[in-house]
Amino acid sequence: MTPPFAEQLNLRLCHCCRLACPADESAANCPRCGSPLHMRKPNAIARTWALMLAALVFYIPANVLPIMHTDALYRESSTTILGSVVTLWQGGAWDIAAIIFIASVGVPVTKFLVLGLLLITVQRGSLRSRRERTVLYRALELIGYWSMLDVFVAALLVSLVQFGVFGTIEPRLGILFFGLVVVLTMLAAQSFDPRLIWDTEPRNE
Ligand SMILES: [Zn+2]
Repeated sequence: MTPPFAEQLNLRLCHCCRLACPADESAANCPRCGSPLHMRKPNAIARTWALMLAALVFYIPANVLPIMHTDALYRESSTTILGSVVTLWQGGAWDIAAIIFIASVGVPVTKFLVLGLLLITVQRGSLRSRRERTVLYRALELIGYWSMLDVFVAALLVSLVQFGVFGTIEPRLGILFFGLVVVLTMLAAQSFDPRLIWDTEPRNE
């Protein structure tokens, strides 16, 4: 037996402050915080797709373009994210190389795959493993908080290089695209409505 849906109880959850509001009230706004009330997040699927695809597009220049430019005494070089991973690995700092690889490749790719899977299964109205997919969404939200790690890693990278060379170091365009990818994937995860996973349930049961 499944517990009743909010719709059957005539309730709506405020997206902002999580207050369960009566749905039949004439006011379309939350009585506590004033934000507009919806049964589901409006245009959740289209919005999540758009944000995710934009992030996917920006992910290409984030990896291809150099993230920093170092100008040492005898050598001048521009480094991409993966280039810096390789350099650190060859230099014996395999632990830092692994952290940067996970934060800059592992985390974003996982986010793309999980969001894509959730979107496609929801659009197909799939009934399979809904509980597991809800858990997957919670995990995605949790990774979202750790997106800050990416920015931290970039700062770490910059300071590492600064210790290693005498000269100047300048950020390059790649880091901007990387920041955009982090922000866009976070927004995409937020605009997805996990309740859509359960909307395939026949309502009159
Ligand atoms: Zn509210």
